[in-house]
This record gives sequence, C-alpha cells and structure tokens, in this order.
Amino acid sequence: MAKWLNGTVVENYHWNERLTSLKFDAPLGRFKAGQFVRVGLEIDGDIIARPYSLVNSPDESPLEIYFNMVSEGPLTPPLFQLQKGDDLLVAPNTAGFLTINEIPDTRDLWMVATGTAIGPFLSILKESEVWERFERIILCYSVRAKEELAYAESIDAVARQHEEQFCFVPLVTREQVTGTLNMRITAAIANGELERKVGTSISADHSHVMMCGSSDMIKDVSVLLESRGMHKHRRREPGHFSTEKYY
Ligand SMILES: Cc1cc2nc3c(=O)[nH]c(=O)nc-3n(C[C@H](O)[C@H](O)[C@H](O)COP(=O)(O)OP(=O)(O)OC[C@H]3O[C@@H](n4cnc5c(N)ncnc54)[C@H](O)[C@@H]3O)c2cc1C
Repeated sequence: MAKWLNGTVVENYHWNERLTSLKFDAPLGRFKAGQFVRVGLEIDGDIIARPYSLVNSPDESPLEIYFNMVSEGPLTPPLFQLQKGDDLLVAPNTAGFLTINEIPDTRDLWMVATGTAIGPFLSILKESEVWERFERIILCYSVRAKEELAYAESIDAVARQHEEQFCFVPLVTREQVTGTLNMRITAAIANGELERKVGTSISADHSHVMMCGSSDMIKDVSVLLESRGMHKHRRREPGHFSTEKYY
C-alpha cells in the first residue's frame, strides 16, 4: 500500500485567525466515525504529519478536519495557509478507538470535548447508530471564549432532529456567556452544576463518558469519575469512560 495518499484541498474555512476547518478530497477507505487520520505536508524535503480526527461522517465527502494553529508547531501554520486546489498528504489508514462500537451498552452517553476535540463527536452524531443504542446523548463542549464555539449550526441541527434524546451543554471558561456554563468541566462535575443542568446523574449504573482533548482535562475528569466508582474502559475489562488525548 502507498505510504501516502495525495489529497487536494476543497476548502479551508477560517473561523477566526487560529481555528480552521480544512476540507479535502483523498481516496481514503472506509473509516469509523470518531477515528483519526494522519495528514501531512512536505516541508523542506521532509514529510511532517500529525493525527487529526475526521469531522465528516463516513458517508460524507469531502474529508474534513478541524484544528487550531499552534504558532510554534511545525505543521499547523502551513496547514492553516492552504488554499483550494493545494496538495496535501493523507495516510492510507485511519485509527482510533473513540468509536461507538467500542462502547458497552448503557443508558446515557456523555461526550466531553475541549476545543478542537469536538470533531470526532460531530462525526459520531451524524450516524444513526448512536441514536439507536443510547437513550440520552449529552454533548459537553468546553472552550475558553464564545468565538471558539465552532460548528454551532451543525449542533443546532442535531438538537432539532433529536429534541428528546439530545442535550447540548456549552461551557465557556474565560467569559460570561448567557446560556453556557461559565466554568471548567471539572468544576461543573464537582459542584453538580452539569448534572443539574442536564437533569440526570453521571453514574456507573447508567452512564458512559467519552472524553477527547487536552490531557489535563482527561486526567482531572478521570479522577472525578473514579471517585464515583467508574473506571476506564478497556476491551478486556469493560468500564465507564473512554478517552483520546490530543496533546
Ligand atoms: C489521536 C490524535 C488526534 C488529534 N486530532 C486533532 C484534531 O482533530 N484537531 C486538532 O487541533 N489537533 C489534533 N491533534 C493534535 C495534532 O495532531 C497536532 O499535535 C496539532 O495540530 C499541532 O501540530 P503542530 O505540528 O503544529 O505542533 P506539534 O509539534 O504537534 O505540537 C506543538 C505544541 O502544541 C500543543 N498542541 C497540540 N495540539 C494542540 C491543540 N489541539 N490545541 C492546543 N495545543 C496543542 C502540543 O502540546 C505541543 O506542545 C490530535 C492528536 C492526536 C494524538
């Protein structure tokens, strides 16, 4: 199999001066919603590539990733500058276990994302399987400032389509914003505010929590869940939360 697939940029939509949704065509095979793929560029004769969650569902094209420009990083500054028609490299295989088929049966599915880690959940929410398997799905999307709450229209569309089953909780940590929780996800779990807002508890009896994003958030939320008798899910030892760290 070829080491890299040739991709072509379809659109590079800048939400602001740091956040972007990059859409591209590449002959990538079937993937599972929630998985990631390595995307790269040839820079000064070397290929620099990083993993990115796919935001599109497996049935949609073009492929789409959502990322923020890390000024000191080698890949994201040039990736951010790509324009329609530009080339990029895409790994031939997808990977990752933050997928619905890996999650044991339970009543409520919580999805917790910090920043750009909303991507895999958007892909999962576009597929029918998640709505068939869980009674309630709660999406918690934590960002620092309101302008970082990207994909509001896509999330609204999910909420309209699954009014009874879906609950969306935006959290904005560095601004007071009406209609959002203005605290970290850890504080909102610790002080009970999150569960009060959603109207149900997070419990080993009826919940599974998927977390994606910064290692700090994942570490801190894991500690809170463990204090409730929940433990990390492994294939050989089914548990109550699943994680994917971006950095
Ligand atoms: C499985 C997996 C999936 C990922 N999916 C995504 C994704 O969908 N979207 C996305 O934005 N990133 C994602 N990342 C991170 C991504 O692979 C890159 O590390 C990131 O885009 C920065 O690339 P870079 O080459 O510019 O800098 P790097 O050399 O990779 O990182 C430079 C610095 O930036 C920090 N950093 C890395 N990612 C982020 C981030 N997202 N926000 C803030 N700081 C960061 C790192 O801790 C490091 O100190 C994922 C990482 C993993 C392991």
